[in-house]
Amino acid sequence: MKIAIASGKGGTGKTTIALALAQAAIGKTALLDCDVEAPNCHLFSCSDGVCEPVTVPMPVFDKKLCTGCGECAAFCQFNAVAVVGKNILLFPELCHGCGGCVKVCPTGALTESSREIGETKVAMCSYFVLIDGHLNIGQAMSPPVIRAVKERGAKNVPDLAVIDCPPGTSCPMVTAVRGADFVLLVTEPTPFGLNDLILAVETLKKLELPFGVIINRADSGDDKVKEYCRDEKIPVMMEIANRRDIAEAYSRGETLLTAAPELRGQLIMLLEKMEELIRVRTAK
Ligand code: SF4
Ligand code: SF4
Repeated sequence: MKIAIASGKGGTGKTTIALALAQAAIGKTALLDCDVEAPNCHLFSCSDGVCEPVTVPMPVFDKKLCTGCGECAAFCQFNAVAVVGKNILLFPELCHGCGGCVKVCPTGALTESSREIGETKVAMCSYFVLIDGHLNIGQAMSPPVIRAVKERGAKNVPDLAVIDCPPGTSCPMVTAVRGADFVLLVTEPTPFGLNDLILAVETLKKLELPFGVIINRADSGDDKVKEYCRDEKIPVMMEIANRRDIAEAYSRGETLLTAAPELRGQLIMLLEKMEELIRVRTAK
């Protein structure tokens, strides 16, 4: 079972829930930290592990073979290549590594090399295998690193994969949730929380992924998130109270289950509920 934990905005408690679910689960569990621009699951679990670089294809230019025909620049949808006379200019940070310019070049002046943009790491923690990704500083494209984390997660063949997604609703979030059996959207009962929840819900509807909502700090703010979920028939899977001891534990680098071990039963029930919803959906 692959469960993605996502949120329309940062700071809602997404990583807290992902860690708690991975810690509460029974069976071989992998926690995939796909928030590769700011991975922090390792701060709450373990950090020593085996790293592998993540590379993307990158065109290399041979001036001697170039006729200046402009086919490469005309093909590139990302403006990563420009033709100036019989020279071309490559902008690596804009290149998506699609390889198209190499294919359309009629003279072989472009060939494919590779460029390192980040790394993945596998660490054996007490309760789960942690696989996280790190995008190198200055790099703009996180989806290839996210895909690499998910591929390494798949190789570990877990009973349960918990995917901690990047916040927001753009390409990185879509790359992280794609292929999940169920998505948990973590939100908070505030106007910002509701606004960004609606954006995340619309994204998941387009992706046709099943989802439910967790309301964190549920006893603060207002009831508008609950009213929205009721009107849209979105299941509220769990509510977590706004507790000072949980916030203090988080700031010390402790997990939700360390601060509130009594929530283990609710988390196990949450996993069972998702399993049942997936089973019903698959049977349709
Ligand atoms: S590999 Fe693709 S994205 Fe990169 S420069 Fe060539 S056409 Fe553009
Ligand atoms: S397609 Fe090839 S030959 Fe034409 S401008 Fe680009 S690199 Fe030069």
